[in-house]
Amino acid sequence: MARMGSDFELPREPPPPTAESAVRATVFRVRGITKVYPMGEVEVHALRGVDLDVYAREFTVLLGPSGSGKSTLLNILGGLDVPTAGTVHFHDQDLTSAKERRLTLFRREAVGFVFQFYNLIPSLTARENVRLVTEVAPHPMAPEEALAMVGLADRQDHFPAQLSGGQQQRVAIARAIAKRPQVLLCDEPTGALDAQTGITVLEAIDRINRELGTTTLVITHNAAIGAMADRVVTMRDGRIAEDRRVLEKTPVDQLAW
Ligand code: ADP
Repeated sequence: MARMGSDFELPREPPPPTAESAVRATVFRVRGITKVYPMGEVEVHALRGVDLDVYAREFTVLLGPSGSGKSTLLNILGGLDVPTAGTVHFHDQDLTSAKERRLTLFRREAVGFVFQFYNLIPSLTARENVRLVTEVAPHPMAPEEALAMVGLADRQDHFPAQLSGGQQQRVAIARAIAKRPQVLLCDEPTGALDAQTGITVLEAIDRINRELGTTTLVITHNAAIGAMADRVVTMRDGRIAEDRRVLEKTPVDQLAW
């Protein structure tokens, strides 16, 4: 058939997958990190040589007994702390040699944090607590959208004292994700909650991981939670003792808590 004009184009076939596109992007590349805290006369070795690759969209549960180094590792990934030795890359950026200004930008734009205690401002409503973050982020969600994602569309104007522990934690999660971070880091997010309430919090985190594709790491000492993840990394005495893929994920509401 004759060409109809210079703007005529055959429909394009998608390019064949390349080796690179078939492999999932590495979000964090951790190599040989150690962390030593000087404590008077003695030194505490919180991390004793950790290597870890964290992949885009992955949901990782970090397990291990208290004191095994989980929080130290998470804080280093989130740019809240720096290792004593070793390197941490976020994509192609070396966080370990980054200047404070770049690290601040990384924390502010790329990372959402959720801690065991919710750290909400008591005199602000749920919506206002979330808005504190969306006002300074470059491409935020509306606070209402973030609160709807965690199942709190009908609690936006409540103050923290008018919300249950699980609801307050979900406000904290909405606040963490409203800036659309690439990474969500949660340190014992269900640590202060009973099982049933903990499930609602994990459901919110799971939904964010699935629907927004946010790379997620969750610290817990509750091994049952590992069943909902893509991957379970177990720490012991400052090292990774086990790193396994979960072949069949368990829906959150079926976790044997
Ligand atoms: P986990 O999260 O698995 O409970 P942590 O990473 O909190 O473990 O702690 C690992 C070790 O490092 C523990 O012995 C802890 O007491 C110590 N540690 C953590 N943070 C500090 C700190 N800021 N100063 C001194 N020691 C610390």
